[in-house]
Order: sequence, then C-alpha cells, then structure tokens
Amino acid sequence: MKCENCTKKECSKKQKNDNEQNVPLALLNSNDENEERNEFHRLANAKIFLSDCLACDNCITSDEAVRVFQQNQKELFHVLNLNKKCDTSKHKVVAVSVCPQSLPYFAAKFSVSVTEAAKKLCGFLKNLGVHYVFDTTIAADFSILESQKEFVQRYHHQNQEKHSIPMFASACPGWIQYAERVLSSLVTPHICTAKSPQQIMGSLVKGYFARQQNLLPDKIFHIIVAPCYDRKLEALREDFHAPVYNSQDVDCVLTSGEVFQIMEQRKVSLKEMADVAFDSLFGGIKEDELIRHDGRKSDGYLEHIFKHAAKELFDTEVKEIVYKVLKNKDFQEVTLEKDGETVLRFAAAYGFRNIQNMVLKLKKGKCSYHFVEVLACPGGCLNGKGQAQTEDGKPDKALLRQMEDVYAAVPVRLPETNTHVQKLYQEWLEGMDSVKVQESLHTKYSTEKLTAHHLDIKW
Ligand code: SF4
Repeated sequence: MKCENCTKKECSKKQKNDNEQNVPLALLNSNDENEERNEFHRLANAKIFLSDCLACDNCITSDEAVRVFQQNQKELFHVLNLNKKCDTSKHKVVAVSVCPQSLPYFAAKFSVSVTEAAKKLCGFLKNLGVHYVFDTTIAADFSILESQKEFVQRYHHQNQEKHSIPMFASACPGWIQYAERVLSSLVTPHICTAKSPQQIMGSLVKGYFARQQNLLPDKIFHIIVAPCYDRKLEALREDFHAPVYNSQDVDCVLTSGEVFQIMEQRKVSLKEMADVAFDSLFGGIKEDELIRHDGRKSDGYLEHIFKHAAKELFDTEVKEIVYKVLKNKDFQEVTLEKDGETVLRFAAAYGFRNIQNMVLKLKKGKCSYHFVEVLACPGGCLNGKGQAQTEDGKPDKALLRQMEDVYAAVPVRLPETNTHVQKLYQEWLEGMDSVKVQESLHTKYSTEKLTAHHLDIKW
C-alpha cells in the first residue's frame, strides 16, 4: 500500500479496519465511482487511504519530522521548569489557546458541560504554571469573516479569473498539506487565502496580545490544544514565522488526548481541579460563557459563507440551511434557488474519499460548486485523530457521540456580532481592507510538490 508521493515499498502507517473512510477506493462499486477510481488510480498509481495520505509520514521532510516530534508535553514542561529557575532571561510567558472542537472531548471525558470542562481545563493548566488560557473562537470569527469577504470577491471575478470558483475552505491543515504537496497547482489557486483559526490565534497572541503586554513575540511560548496532529505540522509553516524574533506564531501544538494524558499521569481528579474561567485577550475581562459557531461539527464555514453570499449577492436572507445528502453523510450540498435557477451551490466534503471525488470532478471540469468546505476527517473536527480514538488507534464512536451532544448544546454566535472583533479591525489591523489584514489574517500556498528526503515516522 503506497501513497501517491511515496517511494517506499511498504507504507509504515498503521492500518485501520473498521472506519469506512479507510475502505480502499478499489472497493467502491457504483459505475460512476469505478470510473473515478480508474482515473484516480491512473493519477496516483496506487490504492490510497486517508490515514496514509493526509499529513502522512511519507510526505514530511526529516527536518519537519524532528520539529513535529518536539511538540510534546516534554517541551511544555521544559519551558515551565525554566520559568522556575533563577535565570530570568530564559523565562517565558506561557499562553495556551484551546480550539472549540477540543473542549467537547474534555466535557465528554469529565461528563460535564463544555463550559464546566473549559473551567476545569483552565484550572489544571494554571496549576501547572501556565499564565494565560484563551479560547480560539475569536480567531475563527476572523477566519470566517475574511473567508466570506473573499468568497464574494471571487464570485464577482469568476469570469475574469478561472481559478476563482470553486473556492475551497482553508481551515483544515490535513487538507492543505495534501493539496499543496500532492495536488499542487491543480487546486491551490482555489483555496481561500484566509488563515486557519489556529494561525490567526498565533497572530493575535504574538502580535496583538504581545504588544498589549509590552512583550516581544519570542518571550511568549504559545501552545495550541487541538483535536488533531495535523495542526503540529501547520504550526511549522514558513509564513507563520517572524524571522526578526526567530519566533513561530504557534510554538507547540498538543492534541486534546495528549493533554488528557498529562492529567492522567499527574493523577489529578476532577474535584481537585479548580474552576477557573478562560482569560481574554483584552486585559482583566474573563470569558465566562463559551459560544460556538453554527455548523456541522466544525467552525461552520459553509453555513456562514452561504448565508453571507445569499444576502450580499442575491439580497436573500437565509434563516436555515437545508443540506441534501449526496453519496454519503460526509458529502452534502446546499443550494440557493432564485427565479427557478440555482444561483449558489455549496458542498461539504469530509474525509479522503469525498475529497478525492471532488478533486477528480475539478480535474475533469465538472465541479459545479461555488464553495466546498473541505475537512480531512470524516465527521469533521470532533472526529480528529488526536481525540476521537481509543488507545489502540481505533475510532471511539461512543466518545464521538458524546462529544457531538455536548457540542450541540453550546450556544451559537455570529462572528459579525462580536464587538471585540470589530474593535480589533480598527485598533490592531488599521481597518477592514488594510495591508495589516493581509499580513495578519491571510496566507499563501505553495504550488510545488514535495521532493525532499522522506523519513519513516509514526504518529
Ligand atoms: S478535519 Fe481533522 S485534520 Fe482537519 S482540522 Fe479538523 S481535526 Fe484536524
């Protein structure tokens, strides 16, 4: 079994048995899928599995592998221990930013609500010596708003620029990694340039927050708690590095499962963890009530962009999004009709099989979507491999169901209604369309396939 870029005889990734996403394409049986499969095999000359292809061990360089493995609890404790030593020149402010899709994991593990789980997690981290604990929802607000804006611009330019439409979502690093390193210029011009919430949080913490606290970026050690390992690789991207300070916007990513392991190693019971509200980027204010974005187990890019585009482009208020399930529950579409004509066609394509189908359609010039929310994990981010798996690497379906229930109970807020975001556009970013917005909230994609030396590693 080999990946498209793989030069090895035998892939070292462990194989999963009971996840339908890992069914090889060769087992799909409709005529249509067979046709796509054949084309795909010509393209890839191999059977491809999700677990092998997205951020796979054969697609990262030896240098990246070393730096990915450095992002673990040892690194966190190294920094926390230096903070206890007399040499203050080595002290750092430790800030942890938690993804909203990680909190349901702790809520399910503790059997409490998401808000209660957040307080326990924050209390635990502060007890270890962490100075600030933030929620990355504000970064997702920025990412969604910038994606909405870019979609409308691309829609207007679709006749002049052939890569404008479809626009693909940019929030999932597993997908971005695969697009850049395997598909390259076939899809990268279609990917929205808005940074992912993780990397916008990096800009907020090392840019805005550092300035507020009179700190240089390299004096902050910024950790993200995330549902997947792919985010560790994302944190290494060159455009998220400030050479002047030799500082990454995100220094270390720990998965939810890795943080839970620290809790287990320390044998701390839920009762022993203090209830501490999340910090805010805005001084003394505490984040008491957590909110989430609309959407299917993710940050809801499809829903937000669809409603925004319907209003901006067709003066239509969409109250509720109605999904039509296509080939499976992870491939769904949403359309807007106007005067009997379909004017907007969006899709959610989760998991490798659906991504591959969509890419093949694009290659054949048959992709009729204006926007596709692409996520590497079937079921979305709650199902990330850093939290929804048993210890032996199998999908933990019972845990996933619990996570989905607690996540659904979190109140929803529109990014447009976040007054902090509006204020930051003015005070930090110098306006809505400034150079600083481009620098802090947008990124570029590489169109060169990976040719570097590969290294054998396992997650
Ligand atoms: S879909 Fe999976 S790989 Fe992509 S960001 Fe979400 S958890 Fe990570």
